[in-house]
Amino acid sequence: EEERLIQSEKLSTAGQLAAGIAHEIRNPLTAINGFMKLLRSSERMNDKYYFIIESELKRIEFIVNELLVLSKPQTTHISKPVDLLSLLEQVTTLMNGQAALKNLQILPVCTDHSIWIHGEAYQLKQVFINLLKNAMEAMNSGGNIYIHVLTNESEARISVQDEGCGMTEEQIKALGKPFYTTKETGTGLGFMITQNIVHNHGGAISVESVPEQGTTFTVTIPKILEPEEAAV
Ligand code: ADP
Ligand code: MG
Repeated sequence: EEERLIQSEKLSTAGQLAAGIAHEIRNPLTAINGFMKLLRSSERMNDKYYFIIESELKRIEFIVNELLVLSKPQTTHISKPVDLLSLLEQVTTLMNGQAALKNLQILPVCTDHSIWIHGEAYQLKQVFINLLKNAMEAMNSGGNIYIHVLTNESEARISVQDEGCGMTEEQIKALGKPFYTTKETGTGLGFMITQNIVHNHGGAISVESVPEQGTTFTVTIPKILEPEEAAV
């Protein structure tokens, strides 16, 4: 299988458009939610349609919120030194509960030296949360998810490797297209967001995948020297 670097141009225009639309949708959504609250206190509340409307509204809100992550401004001016290994540990701890429920194990890196990168911790966490979520969703009969970290003089390479369903050539090509999903309740936005954040941090993301065997996503991000003050 060949390693494939995922294009970034696909994202920027689509991302901007998506964010613009999300903003436009949010205003009427706020109004509808307000009136729904009023209805909640009336006797019509027991209508079965009411519950359908409410759950569909929740879904729209969820999608709009995911889209809005894309509209976040470039990260450069809010960037700080981030301790990569500690960030990965926090994310792993966060995801361990869900993983255990699916009989999955997240096996994190064991590196003794620290690695520093420059960026926004909240967004960088989102990158690994999204990758781990996808890894977990690709595995339905238990197994392991490995997080490896490699460094050279200039950059850190973090890979998230799963033993899940893998992706076909076609699926790999479609990655990064807005709303592309193979899941019943997916939004098809997580990877776009991941890619957007990685690029905003001067990094790149690549994928290797074999159907029925598993997938490895690798994030490459520039390293910095260890700062005096830690941000994470
Ligand atoms: P969603 O998770 O909502 O479907 P994403 O943008 O996160 O949206 O992912 C898009 C699609 O890419 C998924 O629906 C799935 O088909 C595929 N995909 C992403 N990560 C993996 C993975 N680790 N293993 C298999 N397929 C994946
Ligand atoms: Mg996802």
